[in-house]
Amino acid sequence: MIDFSMYDVKAPKISGFRCEKCGSEYYPAPMICGKCNSRRDPVTGKGWVKFDLEGPCTLLTWTRVWNLPEGYTKKFLLFGIVQFENGLRASGRIELDEPKTGMKLTASVEESNERPGKPVKIFVFS
Ligand SMILES: [Zn+2]
Repeated sequence: MIDFSMYDVKAPKISGFRCEKCGSEYYPAPMICGKCNSRRDPVTGKGWVKFDLEGPCTLLTWTRVWNLPEGYTKKFLLFGIVQFENGLRASGRIELDEPKTGMKLTASVEESNERPGKPVKIFVFS
């Protein structure tokens, strides 16, 4: 199999979801809008607008994980939960030496192949 990943110039994205009926935003996507009870079609996603979730955010809480699974070359990883400007919250990896609760960060998305299996899209806060 040929690996095309090095030719992929499109940055990976993680989507938030906006209810078309009332404008409420969610991440991850719910089956039913908590505000107006609109139902999302699980196959077509009809009734919901996808948008890129990234950019400025505030660190709500974080932790340092020491006992990493076998295969990691790092001593520890930092994980945090952030809140975006639209109020949505997401968890991801922090790439900072000294994170502080309440600090302003920028969220981006990376393809992580640190664990076995298919690469997964993750949030990285820096
Ligand atoms: Zn709604």
